[in-house]
Amino acid sequence: MPNPSLPAYLQAIKKVFIDPELPSDNPIVQRVKKNLPTATLLKGQDPKNLSSSEPVLLLKKFKGKFLRFCPGTRFYNCCGYKIIHFGENCPLDCSYCILQAYFQDKILKIWGNIEDLFLELDKTLKANPKMRYRTGTGEFTDSLVLEPLTGYAHKLLAFLQDYPNIKIELKSKVVDLSWAKNLKRIDHVLPAWSLNSPKIVDTEEKLSASLEERLKAAQTCVQWGTKVALHFDPLIYYPGWEKGYQRIVEMIFDYLQAKDIAYLSLGSFRGMPDLFQKIAQNHPQSKYIYEEYVPGLDGKLRLFLPLRLKLFSFLIKALKKGGLDRQIYYCMESNMVWEKTLGYTPARLGGLDKHLENLAFA
Ligand code: SF4
Repeated sequence: MPNPSLPAYLQAIKKVFIDPELPSDNPIVQRVKKNLPTATLLKGQDPKNLSSSEPVLLLKKFKGKFLRFCPGTRFYNCCGYKIIHFGENCPLDCSYCILQAYFQDKILKIWGNIEDLFLELDKTLKANPKMRYRTGTGEFTDSLVLEPLTGYAHKLLAFLQDYPNIKIELKSKVVDLSWAKNLKRIDHVLPAWSLNSPKIVDTEEKLSASLEERLKAAQTCVQWGTKVALHFDPLIYYPGWEKGYQRIVEMIFDYLQAKDIAYLSLGSFRGMPDLFQKIAQNHPQSKYIYEEYVPGLDGKLRLFLPLRLKLFSFLIKALKKGGLDRQIYYCMESNMVWEKTLGYTPARLGGLDKHLENLAFA
């Protein structure tokens, strides 16, 4: 019997590939075995040899650097976020997901050697005690989507409880607050949810938690004493976008007050041309890719500037009405867009990375 407490997209995993370099008493391997009791465990086999596209999980010994800079670009204002790299790919299958163009395969991967991650973090954080690390796990996968299988976030947060100079953002589109269980403090955590208009959630996300569930979970975290982060990325231009984005902004303030939100990012849908091709191939019902997109300085296609400015200005006006102000920032936009829509550039905030660091650690 598959584990009925798991969401269907995790129950669907029938094969778990285990790197032979991971010892059999590895805590992640043990936990996955326990939570997927009927899955076939394949040690030492390569999932790339699979002929079908069935969902599988690979538990791997990772040999690279776990803590790394977010892959920003020198052409636009980058926020200086540091990634805790713990796995790749995501089963939620949002139509716009950049990962479909980023990785060559769709195999869910988790780095099982969590003790090596801890060693690296310990060394880095202790070597630079005066430096503040604004980090997050939700760059190459959703921070929490595999949490019911692995308990990774909980282990990481429990380990980091004694380090004062790190903040860990958990960015997600699911609701799983089990990471908070038995922690002696949670002020090193910044729970974060990505939001979109109800219409985009219905048509382009499909497997994510509802907006109400995400906002209710954010409210719970605030009641526990943390701030939360919110992300509108990607904002999508579609017929009727004003109504949809107006609605989600109203919903935010039904559940949260401006002071509960550490920061909120805005980013319009963008990507290299191959992302557009992947979306056309994998999600033929998605029509937003046929709007007007033009190449930016980094080669990515972005929504035609006047439309982008319209979208951003609309959101900013609605968010400011709810009391947000300097918490609003752009992911990968130019000084010109900042100036035209917010009236200032990141330099006025002392630099975007410093500004967000201050907000995260406030
Ligand atoms: S939740 Fe994020 S990582 Fe997962 S499929 Fe959607 S966009 Fe991609």
